[in-house]
Amino acid sequence: MTLRLFNTLPGQIEPLAPADGAALRMYACGPTVYDYGHIGNFRTFLQVDVLRRFLKLTGVRVRHVMNITDVDDKIIRNAAAAGIPISEYTAKFEQAFFEDLDALKVERPEVLPHATEHIGKMVELVQKLEAEGAAYKTEDGSWYFRLAAFPQYGKLSKKDLGGMEDGARVDVDEYEKDSARDFAMWKAAKAGETAWDTPIGRGRPGWHLECSAMAMEFLGDNFDLHAGGEDLMFPHHENEIAQSEMATHKPFARHWMHVRFLLVEGKKMSKSEGNFYTLRDLMLKGYKASAIRLALISVPYRHQLNFTFDGLTEATSAISRLRTFHERLTAGNFEAGENPDLQQAAKKAETEYMAALANDLNTAEARAPIFDLVRAGNTAIDQGHLLADDRDAILAVLKDFDAVFDVIRDDDAELTKRALAWAEEAGRIGEVSAEVREGSALTDEAIEALVVERTQAKKQRNFARADEIRNDLASKGVVIEDSKDGVRWKRK
Ligand SMILES: [Zn+2]
Repeated sequence: MTLRLFNTLPGQIEPLAPADGAALRMYACGPTVYDYGHIGNFRTFLQVDVLRRFLKLTGVRVRHVMNITDVDDKIIRNAAAAGIPISEYTAKFEQAFFEDLDALKVERPEVLPHATEHIGKMVELVQKLEAEGAAYKTEDGSWYFRLAAFPQYGKLSKKDLGGMEDGARVDVDEYEKDSARDFAMWKAAKAGETAWDTPIGRGRPGWHLECSAMAMEFLGDNFDLHAGGEDLMFPHHENEIAQSEMATHKPFARHWMHVRFLLVEGKKMSKSEGNFYTLRDLMLKGYKASAIRLALISVPYRHQLNFTFDGLTEATSAISRLRTFHERLTAGNFEAGENPDLQQAAKKAETEYMAALANDLNTAEARAPIFDLVRAGNTAIDQGHLLADDRDAILAVLKDFDAVFDVIRDDDAELTKRALAWAEEAGRIGEVSAEVREGSALTDEAIEALVVERTQAKKQRNFARADEIRNDLASKGVVIEDSKDGVRWKRK
């Protein structure tokens, strides 16, 4: 099964397979480690995770490179304000970034280069571009890319760049003007700034140069896929293409994947709107990492996601349905044999699930047959129709589902505990909801003891005490469920 994925460059869906037949070489723009990541950043990383997990599920080997930008204007400014070296400043946020990726179960790319460790390659690229007549040095010692040297500029974003003025320059990494400008690849050192002494002068690389140099260093001049958020298409990705293709005279990435922005409660996420959330903000409010993962991937990457708290609640209960069903299958005793209807249902779910993902990673359509199967399976268990071979067939489908979605395995309690420990350290414990604080203080053993006490109270017809225990646990985020199979409890 070959994935068909929208390619921004030609503007159409195309098959995506490794050109060398061995491994799919892909580059995804990574974080600038100057602050905690917000859910908009993480949506992009999660959607790229869905891509790489699905490729692996279909048997494609992946060589995935993601840069860590550990030097830029903001980092230099913030480190100076904190009075510490930039490496010390970025180390803290890099560690936080990986903790967040782990909490969200984002797989690590195969290669994670730091910009500051590849300055030599960036300098070489500027030298090559100078030899091509596409780079020039300004009076202060900075180096710029000459846009007029690359007439195809704009081919990715298809922007109308009519306002392009020869020689007009911009020295910041991010700019929003539609009219293109010669952009800084290398910035001359200013007094007191972190800088490197190199053959092209003393200074530091710009962000665009970093990605071109590191992508080609680890993947070759021409590779299979380049991914990033839609906000990076212009100018960042256009600049990467211009630098790389001018230097090598070969096409840079063949396939471009852009993940759309999200809205939060219907509005653009911003600090001034009060709807700006890091992963940690949400976890302190009591939302589980698994629910945040599911909510952020359940809308396909090319669609705008409206991230809402209702959506998070929906994701929480969907995961709970999956986990409860999975537990019923693994813990239950089923008679030998198979039920043709369930065998058929499992096959259908698997086929539809894989087909939906192969169709431009349609995660929303991929979810639906899995939840249909959960419903059918639960009904069959209730009626005693589910047999041992059916259990195996259904578990195999859930395994493939989790190979991409990864929400059934439950380590939410541990992750919440870690978020609390961080809040304590960061002086943010006051933001933690009471339910989370108290629930986390409650050990599994303490909960078990209360559940046993409640069962005994019910037997003795002491319903007041039984209700009291149930309500007390509920206020601490623990739910008790009475079912035919006995009493179960779980953390909400
Ligand atoms: Zn990049």
